[in-house]
Amino acid sequence: MISLHEVSKSYGQQRNGRLAAVQAVTLKIEDGSIHGIIGPSGAGKSTLLRLMNMLESPDTGRVVVEGKDLTAMGEAQLREARRSIGMIFQQFNLLQNRTVSGNVSIPLELAGMPKKERAERVRECLQFVGLLDKADEYPSALSGGQKQRVAIARALTNSPKVLLCDEPTSSLDPKTTNDILAVLRHVNESLGVTIVIVTHEMNVVAQICKQVSVMEDGRLTDSFTLTKRTPAV
Ligand code: ADP
Ligand code: ADP
Repeated sequence: MISLHEVSKSYGQQRNGRLAAVQAVTLKIEDGSIHGIIGPSGAGKSTLLRLMNMLESPDTGRVVVEGKDLTAMGEAQLREARRSIGMIFQQFNLLQNRTVSGNVSIPLELAGMPKKERAERVRECLQFVGLLDKADEYPSALSGGQKQRVAIARALTNSPKVLLCDEPTSSLDPKTTNDILAVLRHVNESLGVTIVIVTHEMNVVAQICKQVSVMEDGRLTDSFTLTKRTPAV
């Protein structure tokens, strides 16, 4: 479970007046769920997501993931804890000077995994997202949907319990969006990974989310459970 307790985050210098991006948010995300966070641009969705793996540290409040209080950890402990939290982005964030394999390999290199084992794990993850045949290509040779598959493969290398998705389909056309949502559903169902999706696209939420939280002006203003799913086209 991901549990945020009274979490707040402001930006800017004190004397210029600070902007409260996230204000006293308390939220629980159940294990195995696909949880959507929706709301208008500037509402604080992306900040809230980055607080869940401490890419942003909260000014106040606690962030607990899988029973561990990330806000109480030192740098080394936090680095270790982050390995069980994958993340993907709207712009994919691939390194252009590395091949597909080279990109997927990055977290394993950082974790110090030996080369042979690493190659095996990279293959497994690429196979999972259906991109094994692109292993030696560079990102510039891929479509947007393929790039996001690479990013998902990279996020899965360390067998995370949680996958954080920041507008994962907002650069993609509707058909490619459906493909990526199918991959995310596959990650959730066959690997049991808890997924949190920040999006402004209501069709995305309607297609795959079970629980939805609504953010406005830094606060959670509503939450609901979707009972009936719109089938993917
Ligand atoms: P959303 O994802 O809902 O569009 P964000 O979390 O990106 O919202 O932003 C919430 C507010 O915080 C916005 O007003 C944004 O301009 C501000 N903000 C976000 N990141 C930063 C930053 N690194 N520095 C200063 N202000 C930021
Ligand atoms: P696909 O072929 O999988 O549908 P495209 O490459 O056509 O994906 O990209 C879909 C949309 O995403 C296009 O509007 C494109 O401009 C945008 N896009 C793709 N890759 C990037 C990128 N790296 N940075 C910014 N926008 C991108």
